[in-house]
Amino acid sequence: MRVVITGGAGFLGSHLADALLHRGDSVHCVDNLTTGRLANLDHLMGHPRFRFTEHDVTLGLPVAGPVEAVAHLASPASPPDYLLRPLETLAAGSRGTEHAIELARRRGARFVLASTSEIYGSPELHPQPEEYWGHVNPIGPRSVYDEGKRFAEAMTAAYARSYGVDCGIVRIFNTYGPRMSAGDGRVVTNFITQALRGEPLTVYGDGSQTRSFCYVDDLVRGLTAMIDSAEPGPLNLGNPAEFSIAELAGIILRITGSASPVRYLPLPQDDPPRRRPMVKRAAEALGWHPGIGLEEGVRRTVAWFHTVERGALL
Ligand code: NAD
Ligand code: UDP
Repeated sequence: MRVVITGGAGFLGSHLADALLHRGDSVHCVDNLTTGRLANLDHLMGHPRFRFTEHDVTLGLPVAGPVEAVAHLASPASPPDYLLRPLETLAAGSRGTEHAIELARRRGARFVLASTSEIYGSPELHPQPEEYWGHVNPIGPRSVYDEGKRFAEAMTAAYARSYGVDCGIVRIFNTYGPRMSAGDGRVVTNFITQALRGEPLTVYGDGSQTRSFCYVDDLVRGLTAMIDSAEPGPLNLGNPAEFSIAELAGIILRITGSASPVRYLPLPQDDPPRRRPMVKRAAEALGWHPGIGLEEGVRRTVAWFHTVERGALL
C-alpha cells in the first residue's frame, strides 16, 4: 500500500517510514524540516518505493496519485520546540490536520492521527485510561500543543462522523530512541547528552515527577498495527512502567558510567506531575504490548549517540 507520512523526517516519522518500507509498502514523507532533519532519511533517498517532499502541511498537502493511508505526525513535539513555535504548533494541529485528513477523505484512505498523552494535561486520574477527558490549562504555555492536539482529535472524530472517513487516533506517551535530536530538550536526550559530555544532569523540580518511557521500536509496531486496522481509537500507546525523573537520571548515569553531578532547576509551568498509560485497549484492539524495558532501551539509545551522533556531543 502507499502511505503518506506527514512529519516523516522527524524522530518517529522516519522510523515509521523504515518499518513500512521494510514490509513492502511505498512511502511518501512530507516535512518542512523545522524540527526534523534530512539526515533521518538519508539512507532511504534513492529507494524505489520512497519519496520525500519538503513542504509545510499547514499550507496544503500536495500529493499526487493513489493513497491508501495517511499518518499525520507533523507537529513540533518536544516542549522546548513547541514553546518556541506557539503559533506554528497550533497551525500544525488545526490547519495541518485538516489538510492531512482532507487528503485521506479525497482518496478514500485510512487516516491515523498521532495524538499525545498531553491531551490529558495534568491528570487528576492515574493511570490514564482513554475514557478520561483530561485536565488542561487552555491558556497556559503548553496549551498550544495540548489544545492543538485536542482540536486535531475533535476534527478527526468529526470527519469520521460527517464523511465516514476511516480514522484512527493514537495517544502517544513519552517515546525515546535513536534519531532523537540532540538539541530537542526532552529529558532522555538531555540526560544522555549531558552524561556523555560530563556535564551536570538538569533535573527540573525535585525529580519526583513521573513519566512512562516507551522505546521507539515498540511504538512504531503499535502505529503500524493501527494503520492496518479499522480501529477508531483513541488508543493509548506507551509503556506503562512508570519512573520518576530522579530514577531516570540514576539509570542514565549508571549505563553511561558518567560521573556527572545532578543540578536541580525550577519546574516549568504546568509540568504534569504524573503520567502513565493504561494500555488495555491497545492490547485488545491491536494485540499490542510494549516489549523493551527502560534499561535496554536506554542502552540502545546511548550506543546510538556514541556511534552515530558523536558530532552532536562535541
Ligand atoms: P519530531 O519533532 O522529531 O517530528 C515532527 C516532524 O514534523 C519534524 O520532522 C518536523 O519538521 C515536522 N513538522 C512540524 N511542523 C510541520 C509542518 N507544518 N509541516 C510539515 N512538517 C512539519 O517529533 P516526534 O517525536 O517524531 O513526533 C512525531 C509526532 O508524534 C508529533 O505529532 C508528536 O506530537 C507525536 N508525539 C510524539 C511523542 C514522543 O514522545 N516522541 C509523544 C506524543 C506524541
Ligand atoms: N525534565 C527534566 N530535565 C530536563 C528535561 C526535562 O527534569 O532536562 C523533566 C520535565 O520537567 C518533565 C519530564 O522531565 O517533568 C519529561 O520532560 P519531556 O520534556 O521529556 O517531556 P514531557 O513529558 O514534559 O512532554
